[in-house]
Amino acid sequence: MTEKFKQNLAQQLRSLALLLLFGAMGVGSVWAILAVPAPVVDRMLEADIRQEAELWRRRVVLQLEDPETTFNEGSVTPSDARFLSLLPEASDIYRFRLYTPDGMIFWSTRTDEIGDFETRSLFDAVVGKGDVYYKHERRLKNEIDGMALHVADLNSDETREVAVVYVPLMHNAHFDGAIEFYTDITERRATFIQRARMSLSVLTGISMIALSFAVFMVFKSNRLRLKQVHDRNESEREIMNEQLRLAREVQLLGELNEWLQSSRSLDELFDMVARFMTHILPSSEGSIYVYSNSRDVLDGCSSWNGGSHKDHIHSEECWGLRRGRTYEFGSAEIAFVCEHAEPHDGRPYYCFPILAHGETVGLMHLRARQTAFDEFGACRKLAQMCAEQISMAIANVRMRDQLQDQSVRDPLTGLFNRRHMNDSLRKFINSSQHSGKTLSLVAVDVDHFKKFNDNHGHDAGDMVLRAVGSVMEQTCEGDQIACRPGGEEFTLILPGLSREDVMTKAELLRQSIEAIVVRYGDKSLPRITISLGVAHYPANGAMPQELLRSADEALYEAKAKGRNQICIASGSSPEARNPSSDAEFFGPPKPDHGFAAE
Ligand code: GH3
Ligand code: MG
Ligand code: MG
Repeated sequence: MTEKFKQNLAQQLRSLALLLLFGAMGVGSVWAILAVPAPVVDRMLEADIRQEAELWRRRVVLQLEDPETTFNEGSVTPSDARFLSLLPEASDIYRFRLYTPDGMIFWSTRTDEIGDFETRSLFDAVVGKGDVYYKHERRLKNEIDGMALHVADLNSDETREVAVVYVPLMHNAHFDGAIEFYTDITERRATFIQRARMSLSVLTGISMIALSFAVFMVFKSNRLRLKQVHDRNESEREIMNEQLRLAREVQLLGELNEWLQSSRSLDELFDMVARFMTHILPSSEGSIYVYSNSRDVLDGCSSWNGGSHKDHIHSEECWGLRRGRTYEFGSAEIAFVCEHAEPHDGRPYYCFPILAHGETVGLMHLRARQTAFDEFGACRKLAQMCAEQISMAIANVRMRDQLQDQSVRDPLTGLFNRRHMNDSLRKFINSSQHSGKTLSLVAVDVDHFKKFNDNHGHDAGDMVLRAVGSVMEQTCEGDQIACRPGGEEFTLILPGLSREDVMTKAELLRQSIEAIVVRYGDKSLPRITISLGVAHYPANGAMPQELLRSADEALYEAKAKGRNQICIASGSSPEARNPSSDAEFFGPPKPDHGFAAE
């Protein structure tokens, strides 16, 4: 059950309860207006009529000539009788009786009753004890004396409200008799009830309005408070969600950083970036370009989440790279599409230049996925942070590569140094040991280099060494490597070649070096030659040092035999391969190499 459904249900229940309350109040009010006034009015009327009865009693007593005798003896004088017969006309009484103390009717508006005795016990029990007795009853219209004067149809079943009051006559605590008055209170009662109902209606109406207003105010303030609570909950939930989102982003960025820092190569780094970016920014597809070593183009390195990259792009094709800051397509009214983003279908995208140590090293391109434009718009900050992490990681890998390179390369020639030579030789020997692949080592030494230095200077010597290094590097193919272990000495490690091929390569190298023309200032330096010693694994040594020593020995032999030639280490072939003795294969030694023979 959703939160919204629960809220709707609660609201509907509240409305229903309110409706029921008002309904009950309405029914109660109608009942009160209809039923309550009659008993109340009756009680009020009783009080009124009791008072009136006392007045009537006084009037009768005062008008009688000798009331005490009249009542005690039950005799009425003619003047008394005249007065008594006029009383109904002069008052609201339509019928009355006079009783002697023993209950005999000695005068009545109905003359046929005179002489009768009151048999009702209440005469003795109530009136006889000096109390007024009041009774309210309904009587048929035709029982009301004098009604014939006002109403045409006396035979109808219509009833009238009649009040009957017995008033005792007491004198010195002695019961002298009683008077029974009958009065028709129908109109008076009806008027009173009507007034009471009207008053009640007005009061109920006012109460209902006041109550409705109060309920409305309470309801409104409750709703307001509820809305405030709801709004506060909503904003707290939003803050909580935002914090959770930020925490997740921080965690993912931390993990990305940790992984990227531990990557050993750019390829590995780009694989990690692709995996993480798919997870961190699922709303975008992306690609990464990095400047090639020549820095004229950017190479497409990796793409993810359905994105694609071109093999190469130029920096002028990207507005982000051209302007040196993040380029956002799709946020401004007027925007130009980067050339590298073509073909473009109008989707928004970002181009983040990747900077490392203040230098632009590449580009991260993110494009919104078809169904996630809104999320894409919200992810710029996170994407920017990712780009910064990636920049730092690329800078680290590059710096590590540089340091690694510096630690294994000779700064003058760019060839591998002695340490790397030893490590590589060890690895190649291991590999050959297992695979049975051939492995050969060629030791190279520039002839009479000391004299060259002495004659032309150290700088010229360095230039020559660089030229020799360059030729040696070009000689290598595949996994063959050229090293400069020190001074004017070089080494070639040649795995997987036959002995003949090794000799061919060595001879070609010798010839190439011999053919080098190095210009120093405005003059060409004299021709240089090299001597070479060849050793094969495992014939000339199964250990790196043994193999190196064998190659060196062969080299010394070549030196001893006149330089500018190749010797093969003894063990594999004791015979020095002298170019003069094998002219076609090794080429003739040039006599004018510029150095005096030792
Ligand atoms: P050989 O034909 O017997 O090899 O004679 P060589 O003069 O070449 O041999 P030697 O060992 O007597 O001299 C090597 C010279 O190489 C000594 C040193 O001045 C020079 N050398 C060593 N390293 C460098 C370098 O880095 N730059 C320059 N310019 N010269 C160097
Ligand atoms: Mg030397
Ligand atoms: Mg030398």
